[in-house]
Amino acid sequence: MQKITDSTYILKPGVLVRDDKKIIRYASSSVILMIDEFPLIVDTGLSPDWKTISGAIKEAGFSKDDILMVINTHLHVDHIGCNKKFGAKKYAHPLEIKQLSNNTEILPCPSKISKNISIIETPGHSNGHISVVFRDEVVIVCSGDAIPTKNNYIERVPPRIHVNKKLAMESFCKIEKIAEIIIPGHDEWFYLDSTT
Ligand SMILES: [Zn+2]
Repeated sequence: MQKITDSTYILKPGVLVRDDKKIIRYASSSVILMIDEFPLIVDTGLSPDWKTISGAIKEAGFSKDDILMVINTHLHVDHIGCNKKFGAKKYAHPLEIKQLSNNTEILPCPSKISKNISIIETPGHSNGHISVVFRDEVVIVCSGDAIPTKNNYIERVPPRIHVNKKLAMESFCKIEKIAEIIIPGHDEWFYLDSTT
């Protein structure tokens, strides 16, 4: 667990390890953002990540039952793996929900979550991809797979997996314009001015 501001806890960073361009290990980041004293979670990794995520929730001083809501940047399997562990309501973009054949639990995400947490549409990697903007001491964006790694940011390339490259690049620019810190879907968090 890594606390990056008073109200932002990285339960686990995202990973994406490629072996000669073949992905061998992948799982999303999982992040707690605070709405006043209530924690919400952005993305929940893969199901085997539960031990790490649940340990990190405890380390942050919470229990899984304290979680107010779960927001999924999109509904790929490596971002929703531990959703079921939480009793809280889960939210994603309606276009993502529409693609599920038997959705019983994911609700359309409102665009405003609290006075300092909002949702922006960042399609391209998937049709209904969203990013979570947290206007804390600094502006933090949980970018999911819209900017999946720091390398994507540095090299200014859209996610390798995408449904629409042009939209993916527009989403990249949208995030870049507002974020001071990015918590990407598959990498450690970073400051935008950082190039190392
Ligand atoms: Zn994805």
